[in-house]
Amino acid sequence: MSDHISNIGPMLASLRCDAKTRSGGACRSPAVHGKKRCRMHGGAPGSGAPRANQNARKHGLFTKDAISERRQIQALLGEARKLLEAMK
Ligand SMILES: [Zn+2]
Repeated sequence: MSDHISNIGPMLASLRCDAKTRSGGACRSPAVHGKKRCRMHGGAPGSGAPRANQNARKHGLFTKDAISERRQIQALLGEARKLLEAMK
């Protein structure tokens, strides 16, 4: 009998592909290192749009600048509310 100790824990713990299959479930194949999809679902080397790709931009609501602007406004509003509470 073999005394080989199987060590597949890290393999099973790896990030899984979340792509939807034709049967409706998730793919669950191991995702390519550094990507969220497996090699069959867009994780292959060289696939996908480059970072900060402008080709798919529609309204800019989720650009880095727009998000940071909203964060600054929310922080300012929070400080104003605190000030108003302190003045009561
Ligand atoms: Zn997949």
